[in-house]
Amino acid sequence: MTAPATEGIATRGFAVSGPEATFEPFEFQRREVGPKDILIDILYAGICHSDIHQARAEWEPLIPSLYPMVPGHEIVGRVTKVGSEVTKFKEGDFAGIGCFVDSCRECGACHHGVEQYCIKGSAQTYNSTEMDRTTPTFGGYSKHYVVDEAYALNVNAPEEDLPGVAPLLCAGITTYSPLKRWGVGPGKKVGVVGLGGLGHMAVKIAKAMGAEVTVFSTSPSKEADAAKLGADKFVVSRDADAMGSIAGTFNVIIDTVSADHDINPYISALGLNGVLVVVGMPEKPATVHQASLILGNKAIAGSLIGGIPETQEMLDFCAKHGITSDIELIKPDYIDTAYDRTVKADVRYRFVIDMANA
Ligand code: NAP
Ligand code: ZN
Ligand code: ZN
Repeated sequence: MTAPATEGIATRGFAVSGPEATFEPFEFQRREVGPKDILIDILYAGICHSDIHQARAEWEPLIPSLYPMVPGHEIVGRVTKVGSEVTKFKEGDFAGIGCFVDSCRECGACHHGVEQYCIKGSAQTYNSTEMDRTTPTFGGYSKHYVVDEAYALNVNAPEEDLPGVAPLLCAGITTYSPLKRWGVGPGKKVGVVGLGGLGHMAVKIAKAMGAEVTVFSTSPSKEADAAKLGADKFVVSRDADAMGSIAGTFNVIIDTVSADHDINPYISALGLNGVLVVVGMPEKPATVHQASLILGNKAIAGSLIGGIPETQEMLDFCAKHGITSDIELIKPDYIDTAYDRTVKADVRYRFVIDMANA
C-alpha cells in the first residue's frame, strides 16, 4: 500500500486496509520538521488492545476506524532532528509518544495539562487527523514520527530498557493516573481486574505506591506471574466462592478488561466509599443496579490515559522505582498473530514491535 504522495519525509510502516485485513507494509510521508518539531526514529512500538479494537473497527460508531490504519501509540525512539525552536530535546535523546500528538492548546483542559480531554478533541496519534481535521495521522508501527516537542516525552532510560519502556506511554499512564487520583498508597487495598498489558502495569505501579494488591483474573495459569509482579493475592474471577469471600474489601478497583463482562461482582467487592475505575473499553455497555452503589456510598469512575505533564511524571516515577513492562519482542510479520494471542488473553504481558530492525 502507498499513501497519496505529498511533500515530506518518506517513511515506512505497517497498515491494515480494513477491519478484516492483515498487516502489510505501507509507504507514506511524515511532515517536514517544523521549528517546534522533532523527528523520532522509532525503535519500539507496543501493541495496546486499543490498537486491536480500532484496527478491527470494534469501537464503531463511537470511534470510526479510518483506513489505511497504522496503529501504535506506545512509541519510543531516538531524536534524529530538532527544529530551530526546540528546547526540550537534542539530537540523540530518547523520546516517547503516547496516544495524542496535538490538541487545541486553548481550552481549560489543555491549560490544565489534561490534553486528552481537550474540549475540541485532541489529535490522536493514529486513526485520527491533525488539528487541521484533514491530514490523517499514522501511528508507531512505523520507522519515523514527526511531532511537536510539546506532545513528546523525555525518556531517560538506558537503551536496553527501551522495549519495556514503550508500553508505559499508554498502559503505564492509563493505570498510574487513576491510581494516583483515587489516593492509592500505603494502607489501601487495590484490586486489578484482568492481568494483561494494563493490568500488569497497574499491579507494579500500585505496589510501588505502597498498596496491598489483589489480581482478579479469568486465567488461573497467571497466578504465579501475578505473585512475581508483586501482587499479594490472586482471585479467579470465575470462582463464585472466592469472589464471595472478598466482598466489601477494596478501596479502589481498576477494571482493565477488554471484553464484555459483568462488573457487578467488583462493585460488591468494594468496601464503604470504594470506587471502581473502568479503563477497559469493551464493545457493549455494562449494566449496574443503582442500589449496589447506594448501599455503601460507592462510585464508578472512568479514566482516559493521562496528560503530558502526568505522563512525564509517570515515566520519572517508573524510572525511579525500576518499573518497566514485561514484554515479548516481535518482528512486524508477527503483528497479526500477536493480535490473535492478545484477544485470547495469551500475552505476557505486552507485545512490543522491534521497529529498530524492521
Ligand atoms: P489486554 O492486554 O488484552 O488485557 C486485557 C485482559 O482482560 C486480558 O489479559 C484478560 O486478563 C482479561 N480478559 C480478556 N477477555 C476477558 C473476558 N472475556 N472476561 C474477563 N476478562 C477478560 O488489553 P490491554 O491492552 O491491557 O487493554 C485493556 C482494555 O483497556 C482495552 O479495552 C483497551 O482498549 C482499554 N484501554 C483503555 C485506555 C484508557 O485510557 N481508558 C487506555 C488503553 C487501553 P485475565 O487473563 O487475567 O482474565
Ligand atoms: Zn493504548
Ligand atoms: Zn483543548
